[in-house]
Amino acid sequence: MSLANAHTAPLDRFSLPDTGGHFGGYGGVYVPETLMTALQELGAAYDLARKDPVFLTELRHHLKEFAGRPTELGFAARLTEYCGGAKIYLKREDLLHTGAHKINNALAQALLARRMGKKRIIAETGAGQHGVATAAACAKFGLECVVYMGAHDMERQSLNVFRMRLMGAEVRGVTAGQQTLKEAINEAMRDWVTNVRSTHYILGTAYGSHPYPMMVRDFHRVIGQEAKEQILAREGRLPDELIACVGGGSNAIGLFFEFLEEPNVRMIGVEAGGHGIKRGEHAARFAGGRLGVLQGCKTFLLQDAEGQIESTHSVSAGLDYAAVGPEHAFYRDRGRIQFAYATDDEVMAAFQLCSRLEGIIPALESTHAIVEGMKRAKALAKDKVIIINLSGRGDKDVQQVAKILDVKL
Ligand SMILES: *Cc1c(COP(=O)(O)O)cnc(C)c1O
Repeated sequence: MSLANAHTAPLDRFSLPDTGGHFGGYGGVYVPETLMTALQELGAAYDLARKDPVFLTELRHHLKEFAGRPTELGFAARLTEYCGGAKIYLKREDLLHTGAHKINNALAQALLARRMGKKRIIAETGAGQHGVATAAACAKFGLECVVYMGAHDMERQSLNVFRMRLMGAEVRGVTAGQQTLKEAINEAMRDWVTNVRSTHYILGTAYGSHPYPMMVRDFHRVIGQEAKEQILAREGRLPDELIACVGGGSNAIGLFFEFLEEPNVRMIGVEAGGHGIKRGEHAARFAGGRLGVLQGCKTFLLQDAEGQIESTHSVSAGLDYAAVGPEHAFYRDRGRIQFAYATDDEVMAAFQLCSRLEGIIPALESTHAIVEGMKRAKALAKDKVIIINLSGRGDKDVQQVAKILDVKL
């Protein structure tokens, strides 16, 4: 099918992925034999759970009582006035318990693990946000929790390491390679192979082998479901544009999914432009990447001519990963989701601007979406409406920002 008529052809968003976990030419299952059974068992358990009213009611209860859903959709009056164009709304995932959207998925997978009779949880974490969310969910349900984290990240994010430990998690440092997220995922997979009978692996984004990209997406769909209802109540119509930052892609697909079949809603994912699109200086997979396989998944990734994974850079640890979730690659090919990137410098400026104008300190990850949202708001008429997903709060980032701004605390 040619690209020109590809995105005009209607597509049932529920038809993806296929039973093998493919989103068109992306996704799938690329793991050692020893993990095939575990993934199939997980897929079967999830398939039952997603249709089970008992599971869904229990999940809804904990999302409300523990995580703090629904989150507000707030009108950003001063940011809107500053840009002078479209009305800007912020979907406030930053108000959730533990500070970001990640708790939606961590809570749901912990419940699923309990249902499967698995009493031991493992997880990977980069900046520590997914580790903290997982540690909280495990404490809540009395599950043993081991979090793998690159030794370099543990140093950079020592406060999050302490948070996880306070909530009873064991944090294991990984000293291989660059000592960051990629190596932490490798270690978590190794642990899973060894302890697969007792252990569930709570992966933190819409990535990896089937069923993870689909399952994590589903656990974040609530973001878009709420946003749709809220904007209809507030504006009496659907938004013109949705904007979200994209690391693995979970907060973005969570917001977008509900709107995929609404032809008049444009969607933009924002990647980390770092110091600009030069090798090793960014994490904008769609700007500098190509098709390959990494950590169980076929997708767009940053690699050199020999297929070696390139090092990445972003001011925000949560977007600093060489590969992107397969569903995003699929919808980009169809022209349904567009992609942009924001540089570290743009992010630093918008971080301070949003704090000052809105009284909201955004996560550096989410600030990538604010950068793009502001550009777009400026270019649109005043009767247009955009929603920016504020995936997390910036409390975790203030020490790093102070350092960059050369402010002594
Ligand atoms: C982890 C994180 C992200 C990036 O992950 P996605 O799966 O792409 O959503 C974005 N924002 C915040 C606040 C995060 O903690």
